[in-house]
Amino acid sequence: MVAYKSKVVERITLPSKERRTQALEAAGYNAFNLPADDVFIDLLTDSGTGAMSDDQWAALLQGDEAYAGSSSFDRLESAVADVMGFERVVPAHQGRGAENVLYGSLLSEGDVALNNTHFDTTRAHVSNQGADPVDCPVPGAHDPATNEPFKGDFSIERARDVVDEVGADRVPLVILTITNNSTAGQPVSVENTRRVRAFADEIDATFVIDACRFAENAYFVTRREDEFEDATVAEVAREQLGLADALVMSGKKDGLANVGGFVATDDEALFEQCKQRAILYEGFPTYGGMAGRDVAAMAVGLREAVEESYIEDRVEQVRELGAMLEEAGIPVYTPTGGHAVYLDAGATFPEIPAEQFPGQALVCELYREGGVRGVELGSFAFPETDRPELVRLAIPRRTYHREHFEHVVETAEAVLENRHEVSGLEIVSNPAVPELRHFSASLEPVSAETATAVDADSD
Ligand SMILES: *Cc1c(COP(=O)(O)O)cnc(C)c1O
Repeated sequence: MVAYKSKVVERITLPSKERRTQALEAAGYNAFNLPADDVFIDLLTDSGTGAMSDDQWAALLQGDEAYAGSSSFDRLESAVADVMGFERVVPAHQGRGAENVLYGSLLSEGDVALNNTHFDTTRAHVSNQGADPVDCPVPGAHDPATNEPFKGDFSIERARDVVDEVGADRVPLVILTITNNSTAGQPVSVENTRRVRAFADEIDATFVIDACRFAENAYFVTRREDEFEDATVAEVAREQLGLADALVMSGKKDGLANVGGFVATDDEALFEQCKQRAILYEGFPTYGGMAGRDVAAMAVGLREAVEESYIEDRVEQVRELGAMLEEAGIPVYTPTGGHAVYLDAGATFPEIPAEQFPGQALVCELYREGGVRGVELGSFAFPETDRPELVRLAIPRRTYHREHFEHVVETAEAVLENRHEVSGLEIVSNPAVPELRHFSASLEPVSAETATAVDADSD
């Protein structure tokens, strides 16, 4: 059911193919370096790129810019209490600011953090504390072709193996990322969340939910987990989030805002620790690096995120793009997750070896062919991990329509048709932090001679 009509519009244009080819070269074959004006359909991320509602725009005007005791913060606190069930909130400028505040309070040098899958900024923040991020996905999570309902779940078995190996003393933190962003936006069941809670109790660890996409996750639970078939999305969200000791949140995702984030907890001691750290890194704990108006818009967005009409429209739109691509014969990860469709670049370009980044090659060709911007989440973004070669097409909230999706599908079909002419890529400059290289590294197409040399090696 259509849930919106337009009140404000933004013009978009498709630059000429010649310009797109030049822009790609100037960007070092890294989509993060492309000027947004040169992009026609921007599916780089759904983070902070959605359309706000008229209620959110109204809240912006009412933003209270007081340094301390802002009434916009009161609105946020009450929204977090009502929607997520936590009383104590420490705002931050965005999700990774909240991660720094929380993980800096919970981790020390030599610790191990367990997570169903660490999102890239989470992995970097855990490492930044001198701790070791270890993923515990369920078997089959990285298989693009299996059709299980909760491929985002946390593997207790894998976690137990890690604890047996390093000792429970070294594992003070268990994180559950819902939906599991780095596993194709796949959902996590409430049943699995309960088991993670029990496991954290068993090893005396703090249990944190990375709640960036908590509403999308709750929607899947109402559709796929028998116990919750009659529950509302709002009820599931509270049930699931209530199992954690603390939440870390990006307002740019299911806060439906352009910026913002926070930590939420009921633990007084942890709250005090986070507040002190927030003052150092984010700002006074009633604004946390956000303008008061942005705090107010996020407070409204959190409430909208669990409205049935919003969340159904949101998740079903993503599913629709996945179905359209699949129907056109484009290899995609199944089932489609909450915020994005993931193209299987390994299946699209079987001749391009992992060290020449087939996913990044697909990102470049989608842009060259149709001005569509996606992002690689395979061996370029995650060096030295055993991941499938995926390209994420993330759907900004309440932004694009079926006609846009038809263009995306036609573009992908054209790329698939010319796949034998596409070459792999090699890195020409690398940033200092290896976990974040895909944000800023530059690349170039592998020259004909190098490509032949690799072929010869593998023969
Ligand atoms: C986006 C995201 C973050 C980081 O939030 P930002 O607002 O981008 O800093 C952390 N964890 C997950 C799962 C995310 O999706």
